[in-house]
Amino acid sequence: MEFKVVSSVEKILKECENRPESFDRIFVFGVFEGHENDFLKNKSLNKFYFLYKRLKQLDFKAKKGKNVLVESPITSLVHGLDKKTKFNYDSIRCFVSNSLKIARKNKIKDVTFIFPDMPNEYYLDDGLFFMSSAVAEGASLGLYEFKKYKTKDADKGGKKAEDFRPIRVYFGPIAMNKAKEKQVKEGLDFGKITSEAANFARDMINEPGNVATPIYLANIAKEFSTEVGIECKIFDEKDIVKHKMLSFYGVARGSKNPPRFIHLIYKPKPTAKKNKIKKIAIVGKGVTFDSGGLSLKPSDFMTNMKSDKSGACAVLGIMRYVSKLNLGAEVHGIIAACENMPDGHAQRPDDIVKALNGKTIEIENTDAEGRLTLADALTFAENIGVDEIIDIATLTGACVVALGEYTSGVMGNDKTLINSIIKTSEISGEKMWELPFDDNMREKLSSPIADIRNIGNRYGGAITAGMFLEEFVSDKVKWCHIDIAGPSFTKTGFTYNPKGATGVGARTILYYLRQQSC
Ligand SMILES: [Zn+2]
Repeated sequence: MEFKVVSSVEKILKECENRPESFDRIFVFGVFEGHENDFLKNKSLNKFYFLYKRLKQLDFKAKKGKNVLVESPITSLVHGLDKKTKFNYDSIRCFVSNSLKIARKNKIKDVTFIFPDMPNEYYLDDGLFFMSSAVAEGASLGLYEFKKYKTKDADKGGKKAEDFRPIRVYFGPIAMNKAKEKQVKEGLDFGKITSEAANFARDMINEPGNVATPIYLANIAKEFSTEVGIECKIFDEKDIVKHKMLSFYGVARGSKNPPRFIHLIYKPKPTAKKNKIKKIAIVGKGVTFDSGGLSLKPSDFMTNMKSDKSGACAVLGIMRYVSKLNLGAEVHGIIAACENMPDGHAQRPDDIVKALNGKTIEIENTDAEGRLTLADALTFAENIGVDEIIDIATLTGACVVALGEYTSGVMGNDKTLINSIIKTSEISGEKMWELPFDDNMREKLSSPIADIRNIGNRYGGAITAGMFLEEFVSDKVKWCHIDIAGPSFTKTGFTYNPKGATGVGARTILYYLRQQSC
């Protein structure tokens, strides 16, 4: 999808004059709550005075999620926004996504966004960069559809994102200059990359367990790694055992589909600078289907467990697009991919396994399997000598109980890293909140016969899961764990996330990586 940022409304109107009034063209006006009367203060908008009259007639009060479509004399959509004081970058994603969905429904191809006079900070520092990336993201995330299994053309969905003509954006009355134009261009490009990464993740997560097996994920990694020029190493089940990842292997044992361990490596281009290159590992939970194993889930809780690979798919999305960002940091994508199934070889409750870092684990519940796969993946990441590890995992239902279905829980051993991930999420719009580790809870994970057991009691389950993982990274490496069990998959859809996979985590981490090499 292409965008064209225009510095004045007059320019847009002039451009439109060259083509006669067309029925597939729309002007979309964002109006802050309580500001419905002053959006026409901008003199260049006097051609739209009819809207002012129409809104008066309708007694329209701008409010987030409230719109009016006016079809003549010029097709226009007046789109209510948050209060000016509550407005943030995510409001932009919602604004763009909603409006384009309305345009798509009305078979309109030519869209112009007219932003209101924004609060000052949006025009300072990185403001225009983030506004632009939010526009690109709102468009491509909001229009995403997964309809490949629909066989009737009619069900295959409406207009594709690419079907829109270049989308014009007017960011309000600011004087554009070269520097600002550069910021906007870079922001739009970045937003396209982050949303493509998230949509790539969504595609894989939405694939059912009979298609998206561990081998399928490994093949995708292999395929795109040659395409984008990054390194890819795959371990099969024999390599996994040989490398002593027996905590991970224990989970994989009960499935006919064998596990795969995926390691992708992006290396920055060598530069003249002799600074030490920062190495960051991104680890994703990749349970391609979680039946619970012998601690079998009740059927209600088993539906949608194809999404238990959401962390891994986000990592694949990040690694697929990371080379486009020209980062100065080295990035490792690490996935221990397997299924959790209950056949005759399956791991039993009471079994004891030895993890890669030498610690023994007593299995109390085979459905607490994500942490067993991540334990070895985290140790592997530390062993390759990275400075930082970020893991993303649909780890616990307890995290959803604690924070709801829209917010991820963030934990770890380094306050600075945790804070900077949460700060980044405020820009990416992927809601994240810290959950506190608590030494009083450590006792819950003690086992009478092994070094640790794999489950605590019913209280604070997201935290004990995080504290379990902490046993598999030393304090020599900065580590942050993101439990995405809540927002990774949505049955109803929310904001710019249609029903199904959201791809959560991919964008926040790409925003974070971008800052690491500036
Ligand atoms: Zn499970």
